[in-house]
Amino acid sequence: MQKAILITGANKGIGFEIARQCGKIGFHVIISGRNAEAINASLEKLRDMGIHADSLLMDVSSMESIKSAAETFSQMNLKLDVLVNNAGIGPKGDHSILTDTPELIQTILATNSFGPLYVTREFLPFINRPGRIIMISSSGGVLNGPVPGWSPAYCVSKTMLNAFTKQIAYDLKADKIAVNAVCPGWVKTDMGGSGATRRVEKGAETPVWLATEAPLSLTGKFIKDKEEQNW
Ligand code: NAP
Repeated sequence: MQKAILITGANKGIGFEIARQCGKIGFHVIISGRNAEAINASLEKLRDMGIHADSLLMDVSSMESIKSAAETFSQMNLKLDVLVNNAGIGPKGDHSILTDTPELIQTILATNSFGPLYVTREFLPFINRPGRIIMISSSGGVLNGPVPGWSPAYCVSKTMLNAFTKQIAYDLKADKIAVNAVCPGWVKTDMGGSGATRRVEKGAETPVWLATEAPLSLTGKFIKDKEEQNW
């Protein structure tokens, strides 16, 4: 039976590339995004490549939108083998945790931290056992080294995402659902910018490995380049 993968924020960047790579190896790909026009244009691109793809409108920063997307998904009569919580923002103006506006901090946390948690909760009934959940995190979120010195609220949001990853993995171990956070490296996307060191194909490599070949016993970890990292 064809495996199915749902990827959030997949109209561009790393999410779209994960969709492309998984589609090319035979997955049924469901891409989701918050902008109908953008997600439909990306859906067309995937279908033009011969990929079995569908789309789902979902703003991960809105509980209402997540619930509505889960309701729409339930009518598609599909089960998921993999959920990738990829959607994220790294907005301008995130300079100091002491002076960033509360609205900016809350928007970043709503999207990068609570979004993946609530998407996971709402889509869990559709995930097969064994199954896989992948959180696209960042080395900016690790606590075992110096403060990176850039985008502090973004870094905190990824620390929180890592903590959620560990707790969710613990809760889902008995269900044989592997849950891991991954750092894609510094990737040339709209977020990463043109100065980034990695092409998007490389950024998607480890998430695709976690979606396919990684051992299911690997869970509750922070992974970069297919290797467990200290976090
Ligand atoms: P990107 O090109 O800016 O893509 C981000 C995606 O997330 C877009 O599809 C965007 O949709 C979507 N998104 C943002 N807010 C959303 C929301 N509320 N609901 C649904 N979708 C939303 O960035 P990227 O580099 O591919 O980033 C993907 C993930 O990798 C993020 O979690 C990011 O933090 C992580 N990451 C990236 C890098 C890097 O160097 N690029 C490094 C470490 C981690 P719109 O088009 O509608 O905005």
